[in-house]
Amino acid sequence: MQLYNSLSRKVEEFKPINPPHVGMYTCGPTVYSYPTIGNYRTYVTSDLLLRTLKFLGYETKYVMNLTDVGHLTGDNSGDADTGEDRLEKASKKENKTAWDIAKFYGDDFVNSLSKLNIEKPDIIAKATDHIDDQIKLIEVLEKKKLTYKISDGIYFDTVAFEKQTGEKYGEMSNLDQIKEGARVEPNPQKKNPRDFALWKFSPKDEKRQMEWESPWGTGFPGWHIECSAMSMKYLGEQFDIHAGGEDLRSTHHPNEIAQSEGATGKIPFVKYWVHGAFLTVDGGRMGKSLGNAYTLHDVEEKGFDDLDLRYFYFTGHYRKQLNFTWEALSAAQAALNKLKLQVQNLRSQEERNSLSEEKLSKVDAYRKEFTDAISDDLNMPQALAVVWEVLKSNIPSEDKYDLIMDFDEVLGLELNKEVTQKEIPQEIKDLMQKREELRKSGNYEEADKIRDEIIQKGYTVNDDKSS
Ligand code: AMP
Ligand code: ZN
Repeated sequence: MQLYNSLSRKVEEFKPINPPHVGMYTCGPTVYSYPTIGNYRTYVTSDLLLRTLKFLGYETKYVMNLTDVGHLTGDNSGDADTGEDRLEKASKKENKTAWDIAKFYGDDFVNSLSKLNIEKPDIIAKATDHIDDQIKLIEVLEKKKLTYKISDGIYFDTVAFEKQTGEKYGEMSNLDQIKEGARVEPNPQKKNPRDFALWKFSPKDEKRQMEWESPWGTGFPGWHIECSAMSMKYLGEQFDIHAGGEDLRSTHHPNEIAQSEGATGKIPFVKYWVHGAFLTVDGGRMGKSLGNAYTLHDVEEKGFDDLDLRYFYFTGHYRKQLNFTWEALSAAQAALNKLKLQVQNLRSQEERNSLSEEKLSKVDAYRKEFTDAISDDLNMPQALAVVWEVLKSNIPSEDKYDLIMDFDEVLGLELNKEVTQKEIPQEIKDLMQKREELRKSGNYEEADKIRDEIIQKGYTVNDDKSS
């Protein structure tokens, strides 16, 4: 399998550390609100990678975290370690405890995975359940003299890390400022602008809802340390794949690398770093303040099936930005329904042909084409094209069905399920009426053409053979 690795900035042949086992970790959501359809693009990409690995015969162990503490509002704009804790902020806004906020949105996320056919990770690890692991890891870093204390917390010393390991901090980052350490820095106490918090002290004049005792004082972990602590706990000090959205490439992931490699001295911490490009909406950024940070609930309210969204994600390559519009989702819905109907029709068709040598080799060729597409850095537009080709081909229906059901192990589109009920547009109603009239007047040939047209548009026709 060929996979783009952000670490080398190249497409590489995927070679796991200990085949056929593959350890994979994805940075999960910060559970302070409903995840957006942008977040879900990232999780579907990880799911696709996981399913592809399984399809290719690897044995996977998949871990995802839930960030339920310590992710500050400044983190995503590059000002790590500043701002308010997202959970505490949401707690004030919604008038619930931070624990209730985390439980509510964490549960919503985990329950939503199955709606999108995202396979449940083998381990879903909450940051608040792993405070001790994080403290222990910070202690290891402290012993190695990779930390220092300032007034608001314990920080990671990136210069000491470079001296000790001979590695360059932030090699993988796509932010030049990170590498050069030239960011505008709000905290003058830090030795170097690139240094980041491992443990933050609770403010002296305020009792936080989420805070813990530690060797350094009461406080809470920095956002980055949880992923190093939990991924190494469940996958070992070195493992195969670490995934997330492209924004994490700038600071969160370089910080994870520095913490983990600093603590263990084992390089590389992770062999392949996989980053999915962002979802945009109507050609621009998606944001809560812009009113376009759509959630799965918005998608469902508009009458879509969540799997329409999954199909939509596959219409673009994961390393290219994908632009969401409701029209594009409708087009994905129509395509998915058409696909499902054709698969359903395959099941009802009686087999007339036996599998000739020629057709048998075609089945193998299509299987190879599909496998090649997904193995080519998860080329889903190409993989979908192969599915459509199979349907158009002259191989026997039964074999088409079996082949497409195999492909659905990766696609996860439930192609053998009934098309979901939806509002029938006027255009289709008109076509149905026209067909009925043609049938009544005995013009079956024309009526059949209209039947095909209706199916082409993604709708089922109930055929009553007696009339
Ligand atoms: P967060 O909840 O902010 O920690 O984000 C959870 C995951 O979603 C991270 O991997 C982000 O990189 C990813 N993400 C955030 N916004 C988008 C977006 N618009 N498109 C795709 N992925 C996103
Ligand atoms: Zn992470």
